[in-house]
Amino acid sequence: MTQKQTILIVEDEPKLVRLVREVMTATGFAVLTTGDGEEAVRLTAVSQPDLILLDIVLTSDLDGFGVARRVREFSDVPIILLTAKVQESDILRGFDAGADDYVTKPFSSRELLARVRAVLKRAHREEGDAADAEIVCGPLRIDLARRRVAVAGENVHLTRTEYNLLHELARHQNQVLLHEQLLTAVWGPEYRDDLDYLRAYIRYLRRKLEPDPANPALIVTVPGVGYMLECPG
Ligand code: CA
Repeated sequence: MTQKQTILIVEDEPKLVRLVREVMTATGFAVLTTGDGEEAVRLTAVSQPDLILLDIVLTSDLDGFGVARRVREFSDVPIILLTAKVQESDILRGFDAGADDYVTKPFSSRELLARVRAVLKRAHREEGDAADAEIVCGPLRIDLARRRVAVAGENVHLTRTEYNLLHELARHQNQVLLHEQLLTAVWGPEYRDDLDYLRAYIRYLRRKLEPDPANPALIVTVPGVGYMLECPG
């Protein structure tokens, strides 16, 4: 018997909790819920859910961004933000805090389920692709088995999505990858037009990997087309 996957719902509006719980339970997920930020962090540590649906605005001291940040100190569990806010700055702040995706309120149950499935699928694909090789590109070294990255001998911590994007670029080093190719490979085919995701993550990678992120030498932009990891030799 396969064990049910568990979704942790962190939301303080009872109506929305009921709705999301119903959708997830009907689809075959086990569900945990809390409306409190601190409790959400505790539940994540204790129960190790397979995915977190995380409201940004919580009445507790710790809001959704805070929860994501705390959870990322010890867990790579996929996090989808539930947000009434649609400003790009909030979404980028969410990615920055370690969220994997977001759904804007009000959302349909179909939309929510599609996101949950896409994010879970992404997480599983990664578990399967351990290899005992490494990719070297100038000062950059990617240990594929351990999913670790170093620049000039210094370890650099990447979030899961950052790593996946870098891995995709590195697998095709010195080749231009189209925006749609990267979005499809890293996020999934349903994200092929979400250029904002890609731009944000390219920016994060450059900030972590490039000596001068404003003048990138590793991850180069091919305007209007895509990106390329440029490796010497
Ligand atoms: Ca709320």
